[in-house]
Amino acid sequence: MKKILLEILGGGREVGRLSVFAKLDDQSKGILLDCGINFDEKGDPQLPLYVSPKNVEAAVLTHAHLDHTGALPLYFVTLSFPVLTTRMTKAILRPLMDDFLHISGYYLPFEYEEVIKMLRNIKTINYGESIEISKFTLEFTDAGHIPGSMSIILHAGSKSILFTGDINLIETELTTPAKYLNSNKVDYLVIETTYAATEHPLRELEEKRFVEAVKEVIENNGIVLVPAFSVSRSQEILLVLTKHNVDAPIYYDGMVREINRIFLAHKKFIKNPSMLKRALRNSYEIRGWQDRRAVLRERPAIIVASSGMLRGGPSTYYLKRIYDDPRNAIFLVSFQAPNTPGRMILEQGIFKQGGAKVKARVEWFDFSSHAGKSQLIRVIDNLKSSLEKIVLVHGEPEVQKLFAKEIYERFSIETVIADNGMKVEL
Ligand SMILES: [Zn+2]
Repeated sequence: MKKILLEILGGGREVGRLSVFAKLDDQSKGILLDCGINFDEKGDPQLPLYVSPKNVEAAVLTHAHLDHTGALPLYFVTLSFPVLTTRMTKAILRPLMDDFLHISGYYLPFEYEEVIKMLRNIKTINYGESIEISKFTLEFTDAGHIPGSMSIILHAGSKSILFTGDINLIETELTTPAKYLNSNKVDYLVIETTYAATEHPLRELEEKRFVEAVKEVIENNGIVLVPAFSVSRSQEILLVLTKHNVDAPIYYDGMVREINRIFLAHKKFIKNPSMLKRALRNSYEIRGWQDRRAVLRERPAIIVASSGMLRGGPSTYYLKRIYDDPRNAIFLVSFQAPNTPGRMILEQGIFKQGGAKVKARVEWFDFSSHAGKSQLIRVIDNLKSSLEKIVLVHGEPEVQKLFAKEIYERFSIETVIADNGMKVEL
């Protein structure tokens, strides 16, 4: 039996920049699974390791987030190959890549031309479909992370690998949970570990806590700024506010506007499209500077705006104008990376420019779209009867060490903490 080789190109002992090359040991060609970027402390992009483009028969993208896709255009400088992903991911990729080039283009070894070439080479696939490429049969299944996200099952001979990408196992207002829990037989598991040491609070309770906090600010005639990622998180917040009948004008601003249109044009990837339509009808789109200034004259108001970490975008514009009034609030609902303005406000209560003290109420709410620890354990528990080896990717090393120990104690399954440059033989 030929061995399967996994070359870890990125996402080893780090959250983000995921990229893994899979091939059979007697072949030179194989399949690239995701190809993401990370950002360093200064906010500059960091690329993953690369394999020779001529050895890539095809790439598969689990979802649109840049930490899974942002580096792929580099392969298209010299060659091209098919890129497999869902129709929804393809649609979201375009504005995300545009924005990425706009902000980071100076630091990138590729240009708009390569992005276009990559997008043109996308072959859209559906959940449940199976395709043969490079001695592998690939299957795709809903990962529940964001609309259009998928996990990949690779079959080679009698063996199969489940590459999770980013996964979520709980139902949110926008997405349904990952679908492969009853997958009958998987020999190897390559699993994300972003929150492998964290138990998320119950979503229903966290929604209530968020809505109560919003209502308190509204009753006090304040402005609530909710900096949120434009893909998925912003829509989730608009859905939550609508579901709980929050009685105040709700506005949204930034790339969320374009993503909303994309979501509504690809309804089958959305849990409840009519609810999303209702949430958007229940709120107002900010169309330009005049709207932006007008909103700030209004009280009370709720503003959902990108970027989610207050690193540029309209959320920064609003922040500068509301932070020094204690009636207002900044409610963070997305992951706040170290050294971002969002993290500084949260931990030190200081607004970057001038080190000014933030007088507005600041709070963080856990609306994570990643599986928490017990959900990840549940995935392994469901697959344990056939699992021979587990490879941990996309997580902090400290978190992964604890998680690997727990897997061993519970299931006695061999677990590898992947590192960039490592080759894992299966
Ligand atoms: Zn993601």
